[in-house]
Amino acid sequence: MATDRKILQWLENELFDGNLVLGQELPSERRISEAVGASRSATHEALKTLESMGILRLYEGKRHQMIAQLVREPAASAGPALKLHMATAEYPLRDIVHTRVLLETWALRRADREHPAMRELTKIMDEMARDDLSLKDFHHLEVSFHVALTRLAGNSLVTGLMTGLRDSIYEYTLSLVGYVPLWSTTATRLCAEHRAIYAALEAGDNELAARMVAEHIEGHYLEAGVDPDRKQRSSGSVFVQPEADADGEVHPLEPSSTLAHSVADTKERDADMPDSAPEVAETLNSMEPADESGAHGGSSRAQ
Ligand SMILES: [Zn+2]
Repeated sequence: MATDRKILQWLENELFDGNLVLGQELPSERRISEAVGASRSATHEALKTLESMGILRLYEGKRHQMIAQLVREPAASAGPALKLHMATAEYPLRDIVHTRVLLETWALRRADREHPAMRELTKIMDEMARDDLSLKDFHHLEVSFHVALTRLAGNSLVTGLMTGLRDSIYEYTLSLVGYVPLWSTTATRLCAEHRAIYAALEAGDNELAARMVAEHIEGHYLEAGVDPDRKQRSSGSVFVQPEADADGEVHPLEPSSTLAHSVADTKERDADMPDSAPEVAETLNSMEPADESGAHGGSSRAQ
């Protein structure tokens, strides 16, 4: 492993363990070289590399020795550090899925629908609806959509983590294409689900959006049969299933109707939910059932 990566990992461990904080001066070059098991000269060079990445600031001490200081601003330090580490590490698929669910549901519960990233989301959704997209372009946009989703929460480190996972998410989702029964159906569904998530956010129902994104992420992997523990997608979906017409063509969902239907559907779903399920079910049960006619009128917010 290159020395800069060793130092990066050491820094991350020290930060996570609370032995270091951002903005702090680091131990001497000699102590760092001992900690990571690298030569003094390799450590010296690696520290310079880390400085050029915006993770450290180097300055000369009293006896001309080099002093390294961790950069204080999280966006400029922990972000790139974790990004580099994540871009080069290989994570098990399951770890990626769980981390995505964690970050994205957290972000959507705190999403601000007035955030400028909402406009970015609309642009990405429109791009993804084009039928001349290559598989690669589609998947780059798929990841961009989810990174933009996390932006809505306004936490730069959470967005930094998602950005760090970009390549891994891209590689994994692209590799799923060969495993789903029919890619065009999956692509249509993914786009429809994006619109439904967006509609829920726009309507101010962050909780529903968070549950939708969890199901969207897990469903994508489950559909490809990559999780042996769960054979198929839960029947009590938060999404309205798209209906196939006489020719077997599947059409995208009507975004305006999704929220009301989903709330009504949720009342009947059983307990196949993550940890927060009981709370969620209770909240939803206390809502008035959405009425069918209102649902299609475009103003279907649950009271
Ligand atoms: Zn997606």
